[in-house]
Amino acid sequence: MFSVAIDGPAGAGKSTIARTAAAEFGFIYVDTGALYRTIALACIECGADVQDADAVTALLPQLQIRLVYQDAVQRVLLNDRDVSDMIRTEQVSMSASLVSRIPGVRAFLLHLQRQLAQEQSVIMDGRDIGTVVLPEANVKIFLTASPESRADRRLLQLQQQGEKADYEAIYRDIVQRDEQDMHRVVAPLKQAEDAVVLDTTEMTLEQSIRAVCEIIRKGMDEK
Ligand code: C5P
Repeated sequence: MFSVAIDGPAGAGKSTIARTAAAEFGFIYVDTGALYRTIALACIECGADVQDADAVTALLPQLQIRLVYQDAVQRVLLNDRDVSDMIRTEQVSMSASLVSRIPGVRAFLLHLQRQLAQEQSVIMDGRDIGTVVLPEANVKIFLTASPESRADRRLLQLQQQGEKADYEAIYRDIVQRDEQDMHRVVAPLKQAEDAVVLDTTEMTLEQSIRAVCEIIRKGMDEK
């Protein structure tokens, strides 16, 4: 098995880049943020306060979360219900960042993530993949970009989807999520010592994809 860990802050383009690179190499793309988002959705649906660690932890035994692949596209199932589209709202994004601080939530998802990487070659993206989930990953990439350019890209994406979007609100959410993700006690967002850092602020999406594929190819040659 070959594993690639891609970590970085919200909106750095990890998922688009990782998905494209996975298709190029024939690996499975695992979006671990979807798992935290699914727990956040479950909390919202049953009225549990996402900041109440005891309430969220008590809910976990009732949740069966599975990642399945349809035509190589990841879908996430919560107790056999496909919630892949419902977990993409801004409310779920912020709630995911809050539930992800809870140690019980991280422990609950750790096994599932490691198991996926044991069964197949993966490109896994998240915040703690190179540091905690797959510390022995063959290739580690830390993908980042300035908060301004990440907010610009998100704004464009929402506008293209025909949604109303406010730059200031998007920028504020990105900075707040970075703060929460970098400063939590358990598995904070940080660069693994042996990660290759790629700052995509001045790069187009195509250039970023090329650069990531180049790093992966080099890692495969060295294996
Ligand atoms: O990557 P995405 O924006 O979908 O992740 C949603 C939230 O889930 C992040 O803001 C982060 O708090 C959390 N997360 C995490 N560890 C991961 C992946 C996501 O804490 N490996």
